[in-house]
Amino acid sequence: MIRKYGISILLLVFPIFSYCQENKQEKMVQTAQSITESEILEYANRLTSEEFNGRLSGSPGYMKSAQWVASKFEEWGIKPMGDNGSYLQYFDNAYTQVFDCGSVNYQFKDETGKITEKEYRFPEEYYPGQNSGSGTIEGDLVYVGFGITAPELGYDDYAGIDVKDKILVFESGLPVNGNIPEIEKWVPYDYHQYKFKNAIAHGAKGWLYINKLANPNTSYNKNIVYVHIGEEVANDMFTASGKNYKEIRERIVVDLKPNSFALKGRATIKANTQRFEDSKSCNVIGLIEGTDPELKDEVIIIGAHHDGVGNLGKLLPGALDNASGVVDIMAAARILAQSPVKPKRSILFIMFGGEECGLLGSTFYVNNPKFPKEKVVCMINLDMVGNGTGLALWGGDSYPEISKHFTDANSNYIKRTMKTSEARTVKTRPRTDGAVFTMDGYKSFAIGTTNGVKPVYYHHPLDNVDALTPDIMVDVARMIYFGLLGVENN
Ligand SMILES: [Zn+2]
Repeated sequence: MIRKYGISILLLVFPIFSYCQENKQEKMVQTAQSITESEILEYANRLTSEEFNGRLSGSPGYMKSAQWVASKFEEWGIKPMGDNGSYLQYFDNAYTQVFDCGSVNYQFKDETGKITEKEYRFPEEYYPGQNSGSGTIEGDLVYVGFGITAPELGYDDYAGIDVKDKILVFESGLPVNGNIPEIEKWVPYDYHQYKFKNAIAHGAKGWLYINKLANPNTSYNKNIVYVHIGEEVANDMFTASGKNYKEIRERIVVDLKPNSFALKGRATIKANTQRFEDSKSCNVIGLIEGTDPELKDEVIIIGAHHDGVGNLGKLLPGALDNASGVVDIMAAARILAQSPVKPKRSILFIMFGGEECGLLGSTFYVNNPKFPKEKVVCMINLDMVGNGTGLALWGGDSYPEISKHFTDANSNYIKRTMKTSEARTVKTRPRTDGAVFTMDGYKSFAIGTTNGVKPVYYHHPLDNVDALTPDIMVDVARMIYFGLLGVENN
């Protein structure tokens, strides 16, 4: 009797269970399908618009853009988790407004006495310094290799060379390979801010930094005027001095021996900027609370940097870097908020500010977290996720219990090619918000896109919506939805 009763319960329950599962899946698929390319493009167009002026962290354009993202969170019923009941978590973020692209001019006299003058072009040959002082400087040129003084490493690019009141020419990066065992000792010398301070300490009045892109992650000094130049410009100066630029640079790296010298000719650099020392920027933070009374204290953080590099006399729209990551998360956030299937654990969305200025927003967050670290299941970062036909989980293999929900999401619903990798231990300087979380002891991995089909215009005026492939962004947002619900309800 009892046995018979048991069997009939089983017969009764099993079909209902599988019917519910099917029904749940159907609802999720329907919800995911509500994300379209036109939604993706609507957000991407807005973020990259003139109105937000390239979203330089701390600037009025950035703050307007942050308000706009917050207004969308509010519209979707996502809970504010910033300061004083708002979505915005403020932090200090000084910035420099560049009003126009300025100019760079190089003059030299050859053996016959003939004077050649070159005027360089933005953005093909140079970029204005994003933390340059305002004004004009003119002077003799000195090449100082990598601009590093590291006595404990037996290396000094400034040894025995007079650079007082000179305009310097130097390299970004390190004269050593990132895989050498003693790389950690070199890391402090890899920062642009270090190199700039070192140049000032040696008495330079400005410089041509061989690192041709827009970059606000440098240091400001009102008396210093500088620009970023391409190798072709360095080449001109070396050739005029009877030297081969590429050979000399390479020899410094191979021999790990400085080779600094005066270059022939003079340079004139003009910059038109204004410094805002006391400005603040913000992260935009929203929460979808879990439905399980116990599990809702646990949280998954998903984040993307929302700031760009601004406007240098030309708008740098920052579409792939990183409106793409923000848009992917916004579309996923909308459907997660509206989903008929609810997460048991909580989801915290963070659109970071200040990434381009030196990972300021993510660093501020890890020092002022909204959930205790031990309650965070993992942090997922998206940076430049919107160009290609394939998906990736960089670092996902290190946390298979989490990443499997995303690979499952892909194989069950999305069906794109997908790459995965182990997390790398960060030995060089951190370059993403995800790395900031990893270094602080969080489990963290990144969602990416692969098989790029559009040219990548990194920190360039052409990084606009045309640089995006919206169909992959639709799928990234859908994968986030299925993947997060998988982890959340596991
Ligand atoms: Zn980026």
